[in-house]
Amino acid sequence: MAKSISRSATGSTSKAAGSGAKPVGNLAAKPRRNNGAKSPLAAGAKAVGKAAKKRSAAPKFKPWTAAEVHEAFRRFQEANPEPRGELEHLNPFTLLVAVVLSAQATDAGVNKATRDLFPIADTPEKMLALGEERLRDYIRTIGLYRTKAKNVIALSEKLIHEFGGKVPRTRAELESLPGAGRKTANVVLNMAFGQPTMAVDTHVFRVGNRTGMAPGKTPLEVELNLERVIPPEFMLHAHHWLILHGRYTCLARKPRCEVCVINDLCQWPEKTV
Ligand code: SF4
Repeated sequence: MAKSISRSATGSTSKAAGSGAKPVGNLAAKPRRNNGAKSPLAAGAKAVGKAAKKRSAAPKFKPWTAAEVHEAFRRFQEANPEPRGELEHLNPFTLLVAVVLSAQATDAGVNKATRDLFPIADTPEKMLALGEERLRDYIRTIGLYRTKAKNVIALSEKLIHEFGGKVPRTRAELESLPGAGRKTANVVLNMAFGQPTMAVDTHVFRVGNRTGMAPGKTPLEVELNLERVIPPEFMLHAHHWLILHGRYTCLARKPRCEVCVINDLCQWPEKTV
């Protein structure tokens, strides 16, 4: 059982859910003049009212205190001092390729395909020599493999022609590569070059929102909120701790709250402890 820490009594800035939202309710409450028969307008307004109520039922979180965030990451660190990403790779180039291949696919599925691919194509030159058609054969078990094969060949070409065959070290350059977006850049900057970036995948997005630590409607919002609240000393590994927490403990369908090391800090109203 995770131990409790004392919480600051201040810092609650959450607004009361649904306060001041009246227009839909007023419409539904208009007096009926047809001897009690439900008008389509009133019925429709009621339905809209229900939907609005459901939307406003999204959890409102009290911002985590700095002490709470520090304590959460202290516990993650204690449980797993050197967290590792699970995408197998041999060097920055194969890491970049693995991340590009992992879009909408599992790390395990990508690893299965790249175990045979990377030993023969661990540089942009070798990947180009392999060619798109043969590359497709190696990765055909991965979703969207045709597009991904095209992108990997195109990014290998670009690395050779514009970056001397090396993986660049800046976000802008990484994001300019075919098939690479912000998440890819963040993973490569973090894992290959030791920069304290926060890549938000589906697991990090869920944990950030569910716990209330860094709520956001988009991955970018969650990323920026996490960067804002996580103490610098934990930033290098924070991305892996959160991914592993989401993958093995805070599962999408059945979170394992009973064994969760931050279950006393988590603000999810549906947590099971
Ligand atoms: S208590 Fe449950 S919902 Fe909250 S972080 Fe832990 S596993 Fe996830």
